[in-house]
Amino acid sequence: MKKRAPLVVANWKLNGGTDLICTSVASVLNKSFKAEVGIAPPYVYISDMVNFLRNSNILVGSQNVSKFASGAFTGETSAQMLKEVGCTFCLIGHSERRQMFLENDASCHTKIERALVNGLMPILCVGENDQQYELGLTQDILYRQLHQALPNLELQGKRLCIAYEPVWAIGTGKAASAEQVQEVHQYIYQELCAILGEEAAEGVQILYGGSVKKDNAAELLAMPNVDGLLVGGASLDPEHFAQICTIA
Ligand code: PEP
Repeated sequence: MKKRAPLVVANWKLNGGTDLICTSVASVLNKSFKAEVGIAPPYVYISDMVNFLRNSNILVGSQNVSKFASGAFTGETSAQMLKEVGCTFCLIGHSERRQMFLENDASCHTKIERALVNGLMPILCVGENDQQYELGLTQDILYRQLHQALPNLELQGKRLCIAYEPVWAIGTGKAASAEQVQEVHQYIYQELCAILGEEAAEGVQILYGGSVKKDNAAELLAMPNVDGLLVGGASLDPEHFAQICTIA
């Protein structure tokens, strides 16, 4: 059974600017979605986004967070700073950060702790790459990512999400089928129960990301263990994103 309204999150990556903020805000503002909707623009636009969406229910979040609290870490942004400027969530361990910026399961764990302590909802991204998929290693990869990033968290009264994003589906137009996603989400739920205990696992929403479009959103969300969507490319078209949110 679904625990709460689906969560649909836009990940703009290194895209967008003032124009996209204005058109995106215009396309989601004053619409009433049944889904909970979040947008993660690049850091520099977070404050503007928060201001524009001040009187709405739309959440604003970041695409990353520092594993450090403060100090001599040039270029970093802490969880406390993100909270202060109005973020409510942050993505952690996106595959692009794992591949290109050397993030690993241990840094994800620290970042999740920092986010939780500072009142941000972490969205931990996990998923196998093409080669691992071809070799049938999906569950092994997820097992490692989840068991290393999630132990010993203080989750009482806090929210945590997992985004299953098979790397072979990100930005490729080749989304996983709804049945494939359901099977993997069921496995993730099972491992969450093992790591966090059943009660805490029940509260964790599991999102799917990877070439989500308005055409496949409904069938993905119809799956019993799909609690929401993480949308990359399609979220850069404000009308398209608003349609996905409406479908959800
Ligand atoms: C992502 O990178 O988080 C993502 C889901 O991308 P896309 O929707 O473009 O596949």
